Amino acid sequence: MSDSKVFKNFINGEWVQSKSGQTYENRNPADKNEVVGVFQKSNAADVKMAVDAASEAYKKWRLYPAPKRGEILYKIAQRLLADKESLSQQMTREMGKVINETRGDTQEAIDMTFYMAGEGRRLFGMTTPSEMLNKFDMTIRQPLGVCSFITPWNFPMAIPSWKMMPALICGNTVVIKPATETPLSVANLIQVCHEEGIPPGVVNMVTGSGSALGDPLINNPAVRVVSFTGSTEVGRKISQACATDFKHCSLEMGGKNVQIVMDDADLDLAVHGALWGAFGTTGQRCTATSRIVCHKDIVGKFTSMMIERARSLKVGNGLDASIEMGPCINQGQLDTVLSYIEIGKKDGAKLVTGGERLTGGDYDKGFFVQPTIFGEVTQSMRIWREEIFGPVLGIAVCNDLAEAIKMANDTSYGLSASIYTRDINKAYTAMRDVYTGIFYVNAPTIGAETHLPFGGTKETGNGHREASTAALDVFSEWKSVYVDFSGSLQRAQIDNQ
Ligand code: NAD
Repeated sequence: MSDSKVFKNFINGEWVQSKSGQTYENRNPADKNEVVGVFQKSNAADVKMAVDAASEAYKKWRLYPAPKRGEILYKIAQRLLADKESLSQQMTREMGKVINETRGDTQEAIDMTFYMAGEGRRLFGMTTPSEMLNKFDMTIRQPLGVCSFITPWNFPMAIPSWKMMPALICGNTVVIKPATETPLSVANLIQVCHEEGIPPGVVNMVTGSGSALGDPLINNPAVRVVSFTGSTEVGRKISQACATDFKHCSLEMGGKNVQIVMDDADLDLAVHGALWGAFGTTGQRCTATSRIVCHKDIVGKFTSMMIERARSLKVGNGLDASIEMGPCINQGQLDTVLSYIEIGKKDGAKLVTGGERLTGGDYDKGFFVQPTIFGEVTQSMRIWREEIFGPVLGIAVCNDLAEAIKMANDTSYGLSASIYTRDINKAYTAMRDVYTGIFYVNAPTIGAETHLPFGGTKETGNGHREASTAALDVFSEWKSVYVDFSGSLQRAQIDNQ
């Protein structure tokens, strides 16, 4: 074991060791020799302690006025802003994405925290007329209790904040289990929450593997909400586990996002968008562009422009500001990417650029792969159908808009899609008919803003949305309140026919 800093679990306002007595090393994916930190390999007993603490804290936190909860969130946001550069540098070291993108990740947490702080003075319900005289009708949001969060590694601080801040402002308490690969960014977020005034027990963190901690995080009867972001495979299991006790279950899962490029598109813009969408975050975004549907008349030109630009992308350690694409997160993800490249070739797609692991010099220290593009991709191919979660883009050809929309919808996922066209009729038709939770016109499939609902259709999600006021619906339940001030028994129409 190295002499790197040891990070503990955070339970009931204190940093504590796991009952397991075991730890694991978290290494930099751009440099395997660098241990970013040593983290607790927690067990079910740790989760129980955290849920118990959250349960106890809930008794007071739910009654703490929402505007006061908002004031704490404002302080957290301000502190994240002040510490943004350091938090982002640490995030690049543990996750690998380039520094400009980790700054964006931290910024997303700042934006979400400010946004939800403001909700402390809104959390609007409605008032509405009653059927009866001297009776008052209204709705209020009530919190649910303890929320368990299971989060992925690709947005180490943004995604945890997307769950934590709406949950807290509604009056819930939290136990979070970060991805094994990115616990440092969550530990940093938790430390800020603690220092800026979140009371003990209101936020808790346990680190360790999902397979060991999933059950205790979900099955504890005190847990009333489970919010998960990750693969569809794990999400399905979580959904089934939550169903038994009717727990609120919010799932954000995989994607196979498409960019349509019509023959009238601004090609420079479309190429720019496709490069950013496909290779930003090394293609490891749930909203990453992994499919292009390109009109037959321009596919040749579009493909050559893409090849030229992809070849010039600078790949390396994301802490170097000139680097445009970082490594894959770990050996497993690199192997998956390389195996899909082989599958693409075997299935008959045409590898037009990339396709190799990058080796030699500093590349040998990390999990680097070339930005990779396949042409002549067809709908039966696995690289068209399956999420790869790496820098691999497939280009397929369409004859017209109707076919493009059909191809766009030919996926089990439904997160994000985009169209590049100068024709407003085509743009609106695609906006209406492509069945996803997010749609862009003349912009890439990535780049969500915090004040709009975020989530997807089909196997990407289970109907809930994160971010915006839509997130409040996950972390609160409606209570309809009727106040009769007539002094007599009045019967509603349901009982008065
Ligand atoms: P993953 O499903 O392997 O892991 C996600 C989290 O679940 C991690 O914390 C992991 O430890 C935990 N986990 C693993 N097995 C578990 C189990 N049996 N029970 C409970 N928890 C378990 O996903 P990942 O590799 O971390 O992330 C990549 C996936 O996440 C991709 O499919 C991507 O599309 C998806 N993702 C979706 C969104 C979205 O908003 N739709 C955002 C980011 C990532």
